[in-house]
Amino acid sequence: MLSCDVCKTELLEGTEAASQMRCIPCGEGRSISRDAEQNIRRFKKVLDLKNTRLDRLMDTATFADYAITAAVWDLDPRFRSRHLNVGTSTGVVRVIKERGAIEVVYPLAYDEDDVVLKRATQVILAALEGGALTEQLAIS
Ligand SMILES: [Zn+2]
Repeated sequence: MLSCDVCKTELLEGTEAASQMRCIPCGEGRSISRDAEQNIRRFKKVLDLKNTRLDRLMDTATFADYAITAAVWDLDPRFRSRHLNVGTSTGVVRVIKERGAIEVVYPLAYDEDDVVLKRATQVILAALEGGALTEQLAIS
């Protein structure tokens, strides 16, 4: 892992900060938290459950497929405590109508502990029970 010479926070390969071995806040002389651990940040993409959509892709007599699309966030290298929206992650699930079962067709990347998948499963199964597997389902 590349890290800042001053505060040890992670640096992303291919960035100007990495070539200088100095994070942007340190390079701009911005103060470091007194809690050294707080300065050592590591990049990691995470999904935003509140910013997730469910869109029906297919609907047949036996199953329906839904795309789960979640916003992806990571650390913002320009600041010590902010995050940056770096895109979306999409997975696909199939609900088997007769069994009320969910099968993963395409895995949702960056979904730690399947938090978003579990919520999407609840929403889709509730919609199945209610008899309304609509084109879009609200996740939150
Ligand atoms: Zn630094």
